[in-house]
Amino acid sequence: MSQYRQPTVFIGHGSPMYALKPNRHTAAWASLGKRLQKPDAILVISAHWLTRGTWLTAMPKPKTIHDFSGFPEALLDIQYPAPGSPALAYRVRDLMSQAVVLEEHEWGIDHGAWSVLHYLYPRADVPVVQLSLDGSLSAEEHYTLAKQLAPLRDENILILGSGNIVHNLRLIEWDADAVPLPWAIEFNQFFTSQILAKQHPPVLEWQRAGHAARLSIPTPEHYWPALYPLALQREDEQLEIITNGIEMGSISMLSFLIH
Ligand code: ZN
Repeated sequence: MSQYRQPTVFIGHGSPMYALKPNRHTAAWASLGKRLQKPDAILVISAHWLTRGTWLTAMPKPKTIHDFSGFPEALLDIQYPAPGSPALAYRVRDLMSQAVVLEEHEWGIDHGAWSVLHYLYPRADVPVVQLSLDGSLSAEEHYTLAKQLAPLRDENILILGSGNIVHNLRLIEWDADAVPLPWAIEFNQFFTSQILAKQHPPVLEWQRAGHAARLSIPTPEHYWPALYPLALQREDEQLEIITNGIEMGSISMLSFLIH
């Protein structure tokens, strides 16, 4: 019997408020969590941990970080008490060709991670390690870096990117009924069709995709996490859309599974 390989996932996380108010996207994340074979640990690449250099959380008990402001008290009360996994942090460090900083005090599980894991693994019983995004790298460099993580999938580790393909907070409408902006629809469709066709170069060279791309990605930190699962897609693997759509005018909820 061949060895089990963990799928790899990208989740478009949207508003932290979704942790309090479920919607069709969070329902899709929850059913995905029920479908996936339970991993030994989860390595999360969150849009909300942007660093100089590459960092890993290596503490046994990561704290829940409420890294936002202006949201209700009830959101600050949410805890995601999953354990960490220093062993996985060391393993990831050993897989990487570049220097990695092991972070044991300051960081923990940020809202890019817990707002999604809250639905995927509500029992918080799977250890979580976060891998930061080096802000100095290009999209191609993130994609190349991500390929080094490939052996983890055969070690029952789930690699999960959490961001948003289209993420423009300046043009956001905080309204569940907001009409999707045309350029957001355009770029989201472009991205979705490229990844379904396994065409990764146009996704890495997103700056060439014109005006819609520039409005969709005013800063790249929410875009980069999607490149990690894509980089780990093997020839024989399919990409499955878990949920999609534009919320609040300018946020893509595209989430996908590679298996
Ligand atoms: Zn975010």
